[in-house]
Amino acid sequence: MFCVECGKDTPIFRNGVCLGCYLKHTQFTSGPSILDITICPRCSSYKQKNTWIQEDFDDILRRHIKDTYSISPELRNVTIQTNCKEQDRILQCTVSFSGMIEDVPITEQHPLTVRIRRNTCDVCSRESGGYYEAILQIRAEKRTFTNEELKTLRTAVESLVEQLQRSGKRGLFITDSDETRQGLDFFISEKTTAFSIAKKIQEQFGGEFKQSASDAGMKDSKQVYRMTYLVRIPAYRKGDFFSFDGSYFMIDSLHENKVRARDLSSWTEKVVEGKDIQPSKIFGGSELIREMILVSQSKKETQVMDPKTYTTVEVQKPKSMTITSETVKTVKLDGYLFLLPS
Ligand SMILES: [Zn+2]
Ligand SMILES: [Zn+2]
Repeated sequence: MFCVECGKDTPIFRNGVCLGCYLKHTQFTSGPSILDITICPRCSSYKQKNTWIQEDFDDILRRHIKDTYSISPELRNVTIQTNCKEQDRILQCTVSFSGMIEDVPITEQHPLTVRIRRNTCDVCSRESGGYYEAILQIRAEKRTFTNEELKTLRTAVESLVEQLQRSGKRGLFITDSDETRQGLDFFISEKTTAFSIAKKIQEQFGGEFKQSASDAGMKDSKQVYRMTYLVRIPAYRKGDFFSFDGSYFMIDSLHENKVRARDLSSWTEKVVEGKDIQPSKIFGGSELIREMILVSQSKKETQVMDPKTYTTVEVQKPKSMTITSETVKTVKLDGYLFLLPS
């Protein structure tokens, strides 16, 4: 067959013309010469249609190009590349489309001006407006918090929030927080997430969980409720000593409403219900531990010396064993002296 255009005797590709002539006259891609991209100046999210996303600028630009350019379905395996120079929030770009027609590689280029618009996103405007759906309250049972505990709890909440934000919860933020010796309040933008953070804090620090709703008025002709999630951290802490049922224990770990404790007279483990630990039976924690010098030992007993007073005392070993260190840790509770596991 002869090509109607070039007259050569070659295979006809389409409409009576050969592939070479067809490619000469066909444009496979087309699009606008100006594109607006909106960025939030506070969080650097980009607006994509009606949602805001956090992505690299190059990816966002490619998405916008895909949405606004028309690409002929004839062109296969299309890749889009951009090359931009920025000046005063205006980018002068060259957009290259590469693909295949039959087995011929095609590249088409278009100049494109990209204008960067600034607009505060939905999340940031909520945040600056003090928006919150839930209050996470952390309190202590029958006591106040130490500075160290407050710091630990604040870090725990903040790192949970950061973790969730990184995993894609864009709408999550802490609007405000209050901190006193009595406890911590976090004002959180999403109630379902605030709930799961509260549960995680309870898992980590033990104690009880309560929730309550309060009326926050109408919004879009719907009744809006704000939630308060209260985690009441128990009177005891990890490492505390307490007495229960005539025995003395040290707390190894906390689990919601239960406590894993070590019986100081046998070093065996016991799981105790948190509610069975009376605040009045808690002696304190690591501040009670005294280091003593090991003077002598038998299978079942040791003789230890207080390095401050040089008095020596005998202590029962919780099990038969040989102590190899020169000093031992002890605690005195109700006048009884106990050896602690090293
Ligand atoms: Zn031809
Ligand atoms: Zn924003």
